[in-house]
Amino acid sequence: MEALIRVSHMQDFKFRGIYGLVMSDEGSVGLNGRVLYTGIERCPVCGRDTLHVMEILYNDPVFGDLILYSNQCDNCGYRRTDIQYLNSRGPSRITYEVRDEEDVYRTYIFRSKNAKVFSPELGFEINPGPEAEAMITTMEGLLLRLLDVADSMEVLNEGDDAVVSKLREFKNRVRDALKGRFKFTVIIEDPTGNSTLKPPQGRENNLHIEPLNQG
Ligand SMILES: [Zn+2]
Repeated sequence: MEALIRVSHMQDFKFRGIYGLVMSDEGSVGLNGRVLYTGIERCPVCGRDTLHVMEILYNDPVFGDLILYSNQCDNCGYRRTDIQYLNSRGPSRITYEVRDEEDVYRTYIFRSKNAKVFSPELGFEINPGPEAEAMITTMEGLLLRLLDVADSMEVLNEGDDAVVSKLREFKNRVRDALKGRFKFTVIIEDPTGNSTLKPPQGRENNLHIEPLNQG
């Protein structure tokens, strides 16, 4: 299926919260991050000493270690985020099939700014670009954000019945997916190898990571 939702940069996928984590309301689902460094530095855009710099290390016995870099300027709004996966095996293509609600609510996506994230069955792709930001989210957070993007697109395309009807079909698929009723694969292609995906506990064997062939 041709991707209906195309996001060429991550402006629409801004982090929620200062640590960039989309946390589930359920307290048991969480990631433990440790602040490695935090400070105020000079902003490369406006030159004021108002740039909040933060580095957070996430440890996990299964998927390994990952560092989140986050820069945000209070004065001019400049922001930059990225992640580095310390256990990277190089350029990689990560594939995971989302089969039920547990996969939706307990799978984490760590997407570096260089990665493409897409799903042929749902019909979306998020492309890297110069303005791209890293993303740490649950599968649920990604799906909710896609619904937001589809809503905005529906407003922009008001009057174009063909597009609006395709967007509504897309939203129905995403809503079904949120309830675990629509199986789909998520594919992450990262030429830097800094992205990863953490499946629910016990489902690590369903995760496929292969070297990315770069054309
Ligand atoms: Zn600034």
